[in-house]
Amino acid sequence: MDSPWLVPVSLAFGILLGAGLVCIIVISAQRGRRAVAVASADVPDGVDEVIEALESAGVVIDPSNNVIRASPGAMALGLVWNQALVHPELVALVDRARRTGQPITEELHLHRGPFGDAQIYLSVRVARLGARYILLLAEDRTESYRLDEVRRDFVANISHELKTPIGAVGLLAEALESASDDPVQVRRFAKRLTTESERLARITQEIIELSRLQAADALHNPDLVDIDHVIASAIDQNRVAADAQAIQLVGGGDKGATVYGDESLLITAVHNLIANAIQYSSGNSRVGVGVTNRDGTVEIAVTDQGVGIPEDELDRVFERFFRVDPARSRHTGGSGLGLSIVKHVVQNHGGDIRVWSQPGYGSTFTIRLPQAAQTGTRVGAQK
Ligand code: ADP
Repeated sequence: MDSPWLVPVSLAFGILLGAGLVCIIVISAQRGRRAVAVASADVPDGVDEVIEALESAGVVIDPSNNVIRASPGAMALGLVWNQALVHPELVALVDRARRTGQPITEELHLHRGPFGDAQIYLSVRVARLGARYILLLAEDRTESYRLDEVRRDFVANISHELKTPIGAVGLLAEALESASDDPVQVRRFAKRLTTESERLARITQEIIELSRLQAADALHNPDLVDIDHVIASAIDQNRVAADAQAIQLVGGGDKGATVYGDESLLITAVHNLIANAIQYSSGNSRVGVGVTNRDGTVEIAVTDQGVGIPEDELDRVFERFFRVDPARSRHTGGSGLGLSIVKHVVQNHGGDIRVWSQPGYGSTFTIRLPQAAQTGTRVGAQK
């Protein structure tokens, strides 16, 4: 049964296998040498320890622009990939520092990593390290840049928003002066002056609240918050306004929901939704506040039977200073900040807010928050 081909085929196979093995051994030996050369590149004393201890980004580059040392911060920022600097802007700085021998400091705006879309802002310092190497240090300034941008934007909006009531106060003061002999007019202007100053105070308060919320990405030291108490307080705060318009204000739904967060911020958020529901409803209607507590989520829905919001404006209502009907808001004294505050409170609590609305029928704003009982110690208490 032995085939006459068996012997030569086995021989050829053996030779091929042997040659393959020799190749693999040679290649691995070369790789090993290169890795060793990179790993043991002779950087000045203490540099390894410094790079290891650095919290920010630190990179050591050899004369061929290979990265021979990189701190964990540099890897996390995506500055190094395949033993090279990812960003041509950084390579250009390294080349310049090598050429001139002078240290360079620059602010750069880069993509995070080789493929990332996210932007990072870095303060970069590049200098020679001994005769052969270049040291690149980078501080991540992304967060402070973002905050600066928010602040600049905000200041522009604020000055615009404050101009109107401040202008009104000035005009009313002049009117008061010229009507000083007419007590009826004086009373009328004084009343309007009070309204405008209250409006100024409210806008200022909301601006402070919003900027505080925007400055913090997440809450520090959250407490276990009882949602029943949040809803009851927010309803209480709006009771007088609802009664004044003969609006029936009712709470209902699941009891006993808890979330981790800041109780006063959550009361503000639900208060703002209820205040809007009342403000944008006509008399003799109903505003409902319902809670659903299931599947790890607490939902708080505020429903009204008011004017509603046109579909193409729905996305914009959470923007700062946006009003669907500026004339109506001016009349009701709305600042256009209420829903922005709600959005930021909810985001800081790891939740989201949605809106459903139909002009002429009403609106439902729904806050969703992660249920505390899912992660907290109250799991056992759940039924
Ligand atoms: P404002 O202080 O003007 O009420 P908000 O940020 O609270 O500012 O709301 C933004 C805009 O969204 C309002 O001006 C209003 O046009 C619209 N809006 C908010 N809530 C409701 C609602 N329940 N029904 C109808 N429109 C609403």
